[in-house]
Amino acid sequence: MKGPEYRDRIVKYLEERYMPDLSKHIVSEHYVTPTYFRDTLNSHLGNAFGVEPILTQSAWFRPHNLSEDISNLYIVGAGTHPGAGLPGVMSSGKIVAEMISSYSGAK
Ligand SMILES: Cc1cc2nc3c(=O)[nH]c(=O)nc-3n(C[C@H](O)[C@H](O)[C@H](O)COP(=O)(O)OP(=O)(O)OC[C@H]3O[C@@H](n4cnc5c(N)ncnc54)[C@H](O)[C@@H]3O)c2cc1C
Repeated sequence: MKGPEYRDRIVKYLEERYMPDLSKHIVSEHYVTPTYFRDTLNSHLGNAFGVEPILTQSAWFRPHNLSEDISNLYIVGAGTHPGAGLPGVMSSGKIVAEMISSYSGAK
C-alpha cells in the first residue's frame, strides 16, 4: 500500500519548497488511494479517470453513448463519449438527452 508513502513524500516536497514546517501544523488529514476508487466507488481496477484519452480510445473509438449490445441502453459519463472531466461528462449527458429526445420524437 503506497498511500502513506506518497502522503509523506508530498508533505516533504511541500515543506521543502513552499510551506516550511507544514507537518507541524497539520491537525486533520484525509487521502484516498486506488483501493478507495475500486472498493468504495466501484471503479474498474481502482482507476480514477476512466478510459485513457489516447487516439485509439478517443472520439469514435470511445465506448458509444448508445449501447451496441443492449437495445435502448444509453450511456453517459467519463467512460464514454466524449470523455472524462466535468465538461466532458456534462456534454455526454447533453448528447444522450438529445439522442433520446430525437429518437422518441419528443422536443
Ligand atoms: C482526483 C480527481 C480530480 C479531478 N479533477 C477534475 C477537475 O479539476 N476538473 C474536471 O473537470 N474533472 C476532474 N476530475 C474528473 C471528474 O471528476 C470525472 O470525470 C467525473 O466526476 C466523472 O463523472 P461520472 O458521472 O462519469 O462518474 P462519477 O463521478 O465517478 O460517478 C459515478 C458514480 O457511480 C457510482 N457507482 C458505481 N457503481 C455503481 C453501481 N453498481 N450502482 C450504483 N452506483 C454506482 C459511484 O460510486 C459514483 O458515485 C477529477 C477526478 C479525480 C479522480
